[in-house]
Amino acid sequence: MNARALLRMTAPTREDFEIPYHEIGPAGAPLRLALVSGLHGNELNGVFVLARLANFLQQIAAGEREGTEVLGRVRIVPAANVLGLNTRSRLWPFDGTDLNRMFPGCDAGETSQRIAHAVLEANGTSATPGCTPCALTLPRACG
Ligand SMILES: [Zn+2]
Repeated sequence: MNARALLRMTAPTREDFEIPYHEIGPAGAPLRLALVSGLHGNELNGVFVLARLANFLQQIAAGEREGTEVLGRVRIVPAANVLGLNTRSRLWPFDGTDLNRMFPGCDAGETSQRIAHAVLEANGTSATPGCTPCALTLPRACG
C-alpha cells in the first residue's frame, strides 16, 4: 500500500510519528468518499476493515480487478489514533484525551485537537475559522 501522511508529529519520548492515509482514485476526480477509523486505540475492527478496503480499492485503481473501476477519489484514514493503537489505549496516550471528542479540532491546539483538525481538513471538511474552545481537561497532578 502507498499511504501518505495526514500529519507528521514529534513526540517527547519516542521517535516522530505520522498518521497515514490512503488516496485512491483518479487524480483530479472529485472526492466522493472519506472514511476514518481508529479514533479509539483499543478498537481494532475498523482499522482492519479500512486497511483491507484500501488495499481492495487500490487493486481496482491499478487495473488488477477486471471489470471494476474507481471513478471518484476515496480517502481512507484507517488509524487516526496511531499511538493509542500502539499501546492498545482507547485514549490519546500522552494526555488521556478522547480523540472522538476533539472535533472539529484546532490546528494550533493540543495534539489530539490538531489530529482532529487534520482529519477534517483531509476529508474536505473545513473546520470553523480559528480554534474552538479547548475541551481538554487534564487530570490534576497533585491531590
Ligand atoms: Zn470508538
